[in-house]
Amino acid sequence: MTNHVVIQASHSVIEQMRLHYENNIITKVPQGGIFVAKLPSCTITAYKSGKVLFQGIDGNKEAARWGQSTPPSQKSTKPKANATKFSPPANISTMSIIGSDEVGTGDYFGPITVVAAYVEKTQIPLLKELGVRDSKDLNDTQITAIAKQLIPFLPYSLLVLPNEKYNDLQASGMNQGELKAKLHNQAITNVRKKIAPAQPEATLIDQFVKPEIYYTYLRKQKTVQREQVYFATKGEQIHLAVAAASIIARYAFVKHMNDLGKKAGFVIPKGAGGNVDKAAARLITERGKDSLNQFVKLHFANTEKAMRIAGK
Ligand code: MG
Repeated sequence: MTNHVVIQASHSVIEQMRLHYENNIITKVPQGGIFVAKLPSCTITAYKSGKVLFQGIDGNKEAARWGQSTPPSQKSTKPKANATKFSPPANISTMSIIGSDEVGTGDYFGPITVVAAYVEKTQIPLLKELGVRDSKDLNDTQITAIAKQLIPFLPYSLLVLPNEKYNDLQASGMNQGELKAKLHNQAITNVRKKIAPAQPEATLIDQFVKPEIYYTYLRKQKTVQREQVYFATKGEQIHLAVAAASIIARYAFVKHMNDLGKKAGFVIPKGAGGNVDKAAARLITERGKDSLNQFVKLHFANTEKAMRIAGK
């Protein structure tokens, strides 16, 4: 039996889907679409409207990974039926916490940067004063200015995974989720050491994968932070510690992109769209295919497109 299931998803969930189905994404996208992924028994089409269509015998099963077919407007009026032990407590925004977030995972060029930052509750008004908020509402100039003000006083840990290292790990079979989980865990561990003997009241990770999966990725790690560790999508809207972490991570990412631009001799574009393919094609033409390893995340579909453009 063929199933057609439509769910309504937030942009961050659609982004998670895009990463989840990364290896099955096909290049043909319908009008208004974000991506199409073809699995053996299900085709997934995500639209800019937030609608995601699952077609095929596994339609129901695949859709169930991402929630029910409930419009988001109805969701907010109901109590959080899907709250788990990993959901942040209601009063978390007033606590002293470590927040963590990452940047660069969806960008073809540039490293992944992960930051954990500790914000004491007494610092929350100051952070607001400095303009800390959701970094998606801020441009690079604002992000740089705010980050430079945060860095001198905020206890934080910045981890940068350069492209060569990323490509090595990816080629060895590690997926992006596992990479991110390890980096988040390490950054949080670093910050806990920095602020000791003080301890955070909680830790909030900007969720990129289900918490259960996050911990399976960490099962071989020596130190795993679990105590009062919570997960939430759009974490930067829940506590300014996540917003601050996100701002510092983006600042570092922008800096590395500028450095890559200097190396390349031209401005390196963000994201994973058509302009990115062209920039990569230019590198291939000017420096050869092997040069890509230090600039891009090789497993992205952009590599093939760039090769085609470069006529290789
Ligand atoms: Mg995030």
